[in-house]
Amino acid sequence: MDKQKLEYFRNLLLEQRRQATEDLMNDRGAALEGDDGVEDSGEMSERDLNRSTALTLASRQSQLIREIDEALDRIEDGTYGLCLRCGKPLDEERLKAMPTAKYDAECQAAIEAAQGIETPTL
Ligand SMILES: [Zn+2]
Repeated sequence: MDKQKLEYFRNLLLEQRRQATEDLMNDRGAALEGDDGVEDSGEMSERDLNRSTALTLASRQSQLIREIDEALDRIEDGTYGLCLRCGKPLDEERLKAMPTAKYDAECQAAIEAAQGIETPTL
């Protein structure tokens, strides 16, 4: 991948990282919010639900931030855009849609099949 493209993906990743960090702060804030000791069973359960959703989102954001950091490391290493499994270059459209992608579509499918993970529909 040439320097200009690497720079493009680096900026994309940095922007995603900034966004993810912001979301993480918001989710963490939401998770801590409303911890005022008011006892109302109905409200409590809704709040607990919100809090646990916020915690789930926060942990997803931290996972994403880790993946972005790994992708940024690969840009430094010069291995960015290559499949970690077979070494083939990843499709650029795929990278544009998911700059943290580590595998090409073929290997991704093989790995998910091996792990028995369904591709998330979200
Ligand atoms: Zn591959």
